Amino acid sequence: MKQATKLIHAGVEPDPSTGAIMTPIFQTSTFVQAGPGEHKGYEYARSQNPTRKALEGALAAIENGKYGLSFSSGVAATDAVIKLLSPGDEVICANDMYGGTYRLFTKIFEKFGIKFHSVNMQDASAIEPFINENTKLVWTETPTNPLMNICDIAALAHITKKHNILLCVDNTFATPYLQNPLDLGADIVMHSVTKYLGGHSDVIQGALVMNSPELHEKLYFIQKSCGAVPGPFDCFLVLRGIKTLHVRMRAHCENGELIAHYLRNHPKVKRVYWCGFSDHPNFEIAKKQMRGFGGMMSFELKDESVEAAKKVLKSTHLFALAESLGGVESLINHPATMTHASIPREERLKNGLSDGLIRLSVGIEDAEDLIADLENALK
Ligand SMILES: *Cc1c(COP(=O)(O)O)cnc(C)c1O
Repeated sequence: MKQATKLIHAGVEPDPSTGAIMTPIFQTSTFVQAGPGEHKGYEYARSQNPTRKALEGALAAIENGKYGLSFSSGVAATDAVIKLLSPGDEVICANDMYGGTYRLFTKIFEKFGIKFHSVNMQDASAIEPFINENTKLVWTETPTNPLMNICDIAALAHITKKHNILLCVDNTFATPYLQNPLDLGADIVMHSVTKYLGGHSDVIQGALVMNSPELHEKLYFIQKSCGAVPGPFDCFLVLRGIKTLHVRMRAHCENGELIAHYLRNHPKVKRVYWCGFSDHPNFEIAKKQMRGFGGMMSFELKDESVEAAKKVLKSTHLFALAESLGGVESLINHPATMTHASIPREERLKNGLSDGLIRLSVGIEDAEDLIADLENALK
């Protein structure tokens, strides 16, 4: 099945009891049994819910995976993956990733005896010196948030397979429309569904997709045992969002390209971080593993002061100043004080995330209006 068809139809069957074409919102906590242990596959809604099941089927299908699991947030999905590990285990993670992932790893899981090594993975072989017998997981994000660095998923998978280490890719920025990490050898794909999959800034949710039945069994056990499951209404919203992912992503990509070039040619802009530029350091890899470059980008002004950045951040009207990304409306954000404030300043600067960096989530409004808004703010 081709992608658009899959996005619209995957996982969703007409409701057997009524014929309703859309999966109903099964707003129930429990399911009546005919006799003890005699049920229709649903016992208690933390363990199984039909709306969630439809969504999990859709998620698996659009990532070309066998199994999907949904969680109450992206961070809860990440949390479930780390709970596969035991004290003493080690993780190699990208040095430029979502601030909340960094916080979860260092502030929560380090105290349970799991060790994290932050590594610049733009060259996949950079992980090799960190691999030892305790290494159980490589965690990466590509494109990275907010610097839009690219790492080569197939090259990382080649190394992790050799050492029998799991590879998990946070595919939130690219979405399954632009990139499918399982096809490139990853073991688990993670999503903050809150972003492009939901697509309308009205839900918090996360997801994991995988092919291995053993891995699915373990992660399902963690999902039901730890209980970070999404409610059925949120699952319904995401099922609805997924149906237009391809249409929205095409528009995000188109607007993203126009705005990246506009900013790059602006006299007040020093540097634009967007993975679709042909002189992006990893453009060849981006082109190889992605089908488009999306609407996420960051930029720095020639005036590197925080004040100058703050002035721009306060002067846009269509670009709303807010955390998050991936909705139909455009957002502007200051990583140093907002999304990435949980990363210590020295660590941030070391990884190239400057105090003045501005991140854009380009929405699907008319590009001319968005450019006019930026033009006005940059004045
Ligand atoms: C937002 C985000 C997360 C966290 O997801 P939540 O749904 O906010 O818990 C993880 N990774 C990336 C890349 C994100 O943008």
